[in-house]
Amino acid sequence: MPQILEGVPVRTQILNGLKPRVARLSRPPGLAVILVGDDPASGQYVRNKIRACAELGVHSEKLTPPASTTTEELLKAIETLNHRPEIDAILVQMPLPPHIASRKVLEAVAPDKDADGFHPVNVGHLVAGRPAPRACTPAGIIELLKYYRIPIDGRKAVVVGRSDIVGKPMALMLLAENATVTICHSRTANLAEECRAADILIAAIGKPALITADFIAPGATVIDVGISRISDAAEAERLGKAEDFAKNGTAWVGDVHPIGVRRVAAAYSPVPGGVGPLTIAMLMTNTVNLAERHLGVS
Ligand code: NDP
Repeated sequence: MPQILEGVPVRTQILNGLKPRVARLSRPPGLAVILVGDDPASGQYVRNKIRACAELGVHSEKLTPPASTTTEELLKAIETLNHRPEIDAILVQMPLPPHIASRKVLEAVAPDKDADGFHPVNVGHLVAGRPAPRACTPAGIIELLKYYRIPIDGRKAVVVGRSDIVGKPMALMLLAENATVTICHSRTANLAEECRAADILIAAIGKPALITADFIAPGATVIDVGISRISDAAEAERLGKAEDFAKNGTAWVGDVHPIGVRRVAAAYSPVPGGVGPLTIAMLMTNTVNLAERHLGVS
């Protein structure tokens, strides 16, 4: 059986490390979250983020404009938050309704209040290796690898997926840790062969169980970022998720085949319970880092 890279102990360690830093500050760090409309999944993500703030002693504010809000109204709200000194970090919950110019909205957040690290200025800092807020999910994966002492330096890492929020920043963060990095995507020829060359394989695709055992080199570390809901009993059964399905009427599965990976990998992060718990911990890390910077604490 491979080593299971559980996210919860890593999250606990990260949050425990932040608590004394928050306590030392002259005021609580402040995070503002903008949630447009009433998408239930986004609503749940935002509730989880606000709860994490409360547990850590971070001041949080939630703005909830209706789905009919305009790009201009959002830009105005962000401008106000940009100028409020007690707000250190601003998060715009994605996705925004289709009539909103999402890129314009994300780029309106002041780079030094960019809770998610998505602003092009901060992406530039990542490329240049300078300190700045980092995209939370890939930053959490680096923490996961380090916690479990998976060597990165000099290893061959393959990232499947090139999105702005996971794949691309993931590749840059692995490069900064001295991995030799390959990025794959939907146009990659011979995906299985590319993946089999990996010491560390990161799957951030959004296609359930696409990465089967024949994509994985014996002894590799496999990090599964994808999360998809399975609502077909037979498929859940095929993927070894019959028990979850019987209990919940649905099952969560990653991009990596959960049975296949166990036969080949030396270590892997499960779905759920692997990468997922780390994303909010890294949001808290970005928020505390920004508060320290704003308050002149080094
Ligand atoms: P996107 O849809 O933005 O990107 C998916 C990427 O996968 C694209 O680069 C796409 O290639 C590539 N891809 C799609 N199909 C294939 C294929 N058949 N072969 C190879 N590559 C393929 O997704 P995200 O990056 O936002 O998210 C990826 C997954 O991670 C999703 O399941 C999402 O739910 C999950 N996620 C989980 C988080 C967590 O906290 N656990 C946080 C964020 C995301 P191309 O560019 O060519 O189209």
